[in-house]
Amino acid sequence: MPELQIELIPVLRDNYVYLIFDPATQACAAVDPAVAPPVLAALDRLGWRLTHILNTHHHHDHVGGNLALKAATGCTIVGYGPDAARIPGLDVAVKDGGTVTVGSATAQVIEVSGHTLGHIAYWFADHAALFCGDTLFSLGCGRLFEGNPAMMWASLGRLRDLPPETRIYCAHEYTEANARFALTLDPDNAALRARTREVCDLRSRDLPTLPSTIGVERATNPFLRADVPELQRAVGAPTGDAVAAFAEIRHRKDVF
Ligand SMILES: [Zn+2]
Repeated sequence: MPELQIELIPVLRDNYVYLIFDPATQACAAVDPAVAPPVLAALDRLGWRLTHILNTHHHHDHVGGNLALKAATGCTIVGYGPDAARIPGLDVAVKDGGTVTVGSATAQVIEVSGHTLGHIAYWFADHAALFCGDTLFSLGCGRLFEGNPAMMWASLGRLRDLPPETRIYCAHEYTEANARFALTLDPDNAALRARTREVCDLRSRDLPTLPSTIGVERATNPFLRADVPELQRAVGAPTGDAVAAFAEIRHRKDVF
């Protein structure tokens, strides 16, 4: 099947909006459009017409451009059904286990609550692409605004179980700061040190560090490694208690 084209648009201070374009049908989805003008400019430059918005959660820096883009393009807005009151202009309500179609491409909806309740990710399995919003970042994860550590650990586990070649498109460029934090917990991790060198090099040239992959994150991201004994020891959590280790890692990052 023809490859999707995925365009990364940096907006605000450190957000990314992604455009997903299906050459077979000319369908085009914007994932988490924080603001409309840069998205409209990118569509204009690329010659693409917006048909869908895919929202991962209700935060303003993910849905802020919804209504203006819908007014300009007539696109269909997809999001988590029970969050309809918090997602402007929601047209198509989805939930865990559902699917979303963008032209000839299909995404599975995976609920990954923790950052918010009702946060979802969109997994285009046939294209090895995951749009995970503020749940999973490269070398990090979202803050727990509405969920608890056990919930977030379970959500991250669902993403960690995806095929390792899956490319992850996160909603923020936080990787360099995340790397500095990760090295405090996991300094002997060769994969983390290599990824940190790559990230610092990319950022020094003002290039994005995304997409990462599930395989890279499994090996390097401390928030996916809370069940590794070395990490549990590093944060003083009881051996075998991944949730306690995850909670402590999250707390330490919150105050880092
Ligand atoms: Zn958020």
